Amino acid sequence: MRNRYDVIVIGLGAMGSCALATLAARGLRVLGVDRFDPPHDRGSSHGGSRVIRLSYFEHSDYVPLLRRAYEGFDRISRDAGVALRYETGLVAGGAPGNVVAAGMLRSAREHGLDVEAIDGRDLSRRYPQFRAPADWEIVCEKQGGFVRPEATIRAALSLAVRAGAEIARNAPLVDWTADDAGVRVDFGDRRANADAMVLATGAWMPQSLGLAAPKLRPTRETIVWVDDEGDPAWQHDAMPVWLFDRGSEPAVYGVPAFPGMGVQRGLKVGLHGRGPDVRPEEIDAPISREIVDESVRAAAEHVVSLTGRKVVAAKHCLYTNSLDGDFVVGLHPAHGNVAMACGFSGHGFKFAPVIGEALADLATTRKTALPIGFLSPTRFG
Ligand SMILES: Cc1cc2nc3c(=O)[nH]c(=O)nc-3n(C[C@H](O)[C@H](O)[C@H](O)COP(=O)(O)OP(=O)(O)OC[C@H]3O[C@@H](n4cnc5c(N)ncnc54)[C@H](O)[C@@H]3O)c2cc1C
Repeated sequence: MRNRYDVIVIGLGAMGSCALATLAARGLRVLGVDRFDPPHDRGSSHGGSRVIRLSYFEHSDYVPLLRRAYEGFDRISRDAGVALRYETGLVAGGAPGNVVAAGMLRSAREHGLDVEAIDGRDLSRRYPQFRAPADWEIVCEKQGGFVRPEATIRAALSLAVRAGAEIARNAPLVDWTADDAGVRVDFGDRRANADAMVLATGAWMPQSLGLAAPKLRPTRETIVWVDDEGDPAWQHDAMPVWLFDRGSEPAVYGVPAFPGMGVQRGLKVGLHGRGPDVRPEEIDAPISREIVDESVRAAAEHVVSLTGRKVVAAKHCLYTNSLDGDFVVGLHPAHGNVAMACGFSGHGFKFAPVIGEALADLATTRKTALPIGFLSPTRFG
């Protein structure tokens, strides 16, 4: 192992693993560092699946990034020879006037995306697995589906190593400094220097950034798997991914069963942003029976035949919420040779390949042509 690199990437979860793979593919001397042994289940990128969708209701500015991210997943998948993205279609919406359907339609209009607006009655005609009040406003998107987080990280890291990257596992960042001469990083029992650094430590970003941390709020969310009992209607070739707005209550979402899920088989359901504020170490807390029951009850309102099926697994996972729910990606406000990515607020995984590219651009040229200006860390003042 050398001790001088072009770029050091700290945190090899979703964003850091993709940044490392991009930098290594560009022929740079890179080192990736993680406090655990990625992919692992102690951060934000585990649980078998992550929803990916194009007609983004959160903000239409995300759509160009998503187009690039779709290409990125397919490229990693091809290069590593592993299936990462499944196109099941997406259904999403809620009561009349809900922000999800309205936002999807706005993004679709602005970016010429192919979506279809239906009502609650059409929903159960088209997909008898679901029910919703007749006046509900639902949007169907063909390109929606899911990606596999652990497999993506494993693939990105193996491509990075194949292209010459070094990886230090179980080596927590202890300290770092940056000045015009470069960065110095202490991690595990080692020290290394580089021209630039990428910081992508997820829920640990407040600690990694110190005083420069934009206000970030980690929460502990609960994912629940319900036994599919082999039901063909709950498999990924029959059921789309889904998300239902519940007004002032947390939205409920689900991902169908698919092959290779291991013990966490079945229909995965969750409540978006239901969990308590925590420190990352508190991911180990016991699973709350109350949240599991609430998740299953909310899902059973819309998924026919869910009531009475057994919960087969439940697991915690961390969100890192920003002040406005948008990501925080750009150069460190005080150090032009430190690129940072955080605040993914429970919807970042689907962007990992394009955020990896942006981080690689920023770390090497201090700018990027990718349209990430609206995510700038300086927007909070
Ligand atoms: C329950 C749940 C459901 C979600 N659903 C979706 C979804 O459907 N679609 C979607 O797009 N997104 C979804 N998300 C959000 C998405 O998974 C996250 O936005 C994304 O995984 C964040 O990636 P990250 O790289 O920032 O963090 P992580 O993947 O957690 O990576 C951070 C890495 O930094 C390492 N690290 C931390 N501190 C240090 C240190 N001091 N030194 C070295 N390494 C360190 C950690 O070990 C970790 O490997 C969901 C998240 C959760 C929890």
